[in-house]
Amino acid sequence: MTRPLSPEALSDLVAAIFAAAGCAESEARAIAENLVDANLTGHDSHGVIRVPNYLEWLRNGTLRAGQSIAVITESETLALLDGRYGFGQSVGPQAVALGIDKAREAGIAIVGLRHAGHLGRIGAWAERACDAGLLSVHFVNVAGSVMVAPFGGTERRMATNPLAIGVPRPDAPPLILDFATSLVAEGKLRVALHGGKPLSEDALIDRDGRLSRDPRLFYGPGELGEAALARSGSAAIRAMGGHKGSGLSFMIELLAGALTGSGCCGPGPRTLANGMLSIYLRPGAFADGAAGDTSAFAAEVESYVAFIASAQPAEPGGEVLLPGQPEQRNRERRRAEGIALEAETLAALIEAAEALSLPAETIEACLAARA
Ligand code: NAD
Repeated sequence: MTRPLSPEALSDLVAAIFAAAGCAESEARAIAENLVDANLTGHDSHGVIRVPNYLEWLRNGTLRAGQSIAVITESETLALLDGRYGFGQSVGPQAVALGIDKAREAGIAIVGLRHAGHLGRIGAWAERACDAGLLSVHFVNVAGSVMVAPFGGTERRMATNPLAIGVPRPDAPPLILDFATSLVAEGKLRVALHGGKPLSEDALIDRDGRLSRDPRLFYGPGELGEAALARSGSAAIRAMGGHKGSGLSFMIELLAGALTGSGCCGPGPRTLANGMLSIYLRPGAFADGAAGDTSAFAAEVESYVAFIASAQPAEPGGEVLLPGQPEQRNRERRRAEGIALEAETLAALIEAAEALSLPAETIEACLAARA
């Protein structure tokens, strides 16, 4: 691991990389802040490790700079949007802002987003809705990213299809559940490939049905970066939770891929894109009486939170955590202590910066900054 880097300096370097690659300053900054925030929350799999991939996708046209959402269908409570393969960090916030506006007015909104570039850590979008006082649910599929074996099978048929749910609390951090429906998110395989946290022993399954933790069986031979792009190994990631997780992923594919028109995984080549079906709920719309008093809802949430947190820990000295609590703690710690990256990840960032002819001082400023 590297010495902890300053989140701000890391963000500056990533923003400079995307600006040099052709993004407007505001888009480059949004991408950088989103990726660095994923590192801050502890999800290194969705942090700056993604930079080389995003650059490659930008070069080969999978991802497009400077896109705005196109409205395909719209009513008071519903919108279907096309992200036009723009950066998820650009079209994602636009789609979420529209859902928030509609739910604030109507009490509920459902927003389908098709053809979005990688939307990163989906919990970030649930956090935005919580900041606006709304509950939200986000189903996300990944067309063109077939890597998970369905329950009972050994071959790749599904994506890692994440689900995120956010519940705001008036006087406390929001509750954010956010996970991939595969046993591990693909980025965690990449972190393991780069020498970071190893996978669990049952994360992968090979064609013969044998379980494995070796990411090279998934990525196949080749240099780190090339292998991570090609994913040409024969093993598949396993779905989480046996038949239940596999079934959930299957349904997410239909909600986020088929219903939004983004497209599902399939046998032929498909352009890599996230589809996202999001539901936004204003608590006041569900309150008793016309005044929209949400105090009973908030009190019930707090009462249940306290009940859950009071469960006896399974291990001595252990703790029962709430959804979102690990990320919140990581954020506090990493903001104070900085972000340590795998050496391979930092080397790939520097290589990308040099390939784009960034001034040596910009790179050095990032490396020299103290957290
Ligand atoms: P994970 O396995 O780390 O699970 C994270 C969730 O579990 C969070 O809600 C967290 O608060 C909760 N949690 C973790 N430890 C806990 C504990 N001890 N007690 C209680 N709750 C706990 O997440 P993951 O499956 O590795 O997913 C990582 C990220 O990958 C997510 O942010 C997801 O959105 C993202 N992802 C994105 C895509 C995409 O295409 N954009 C695809 C797949 C995954």
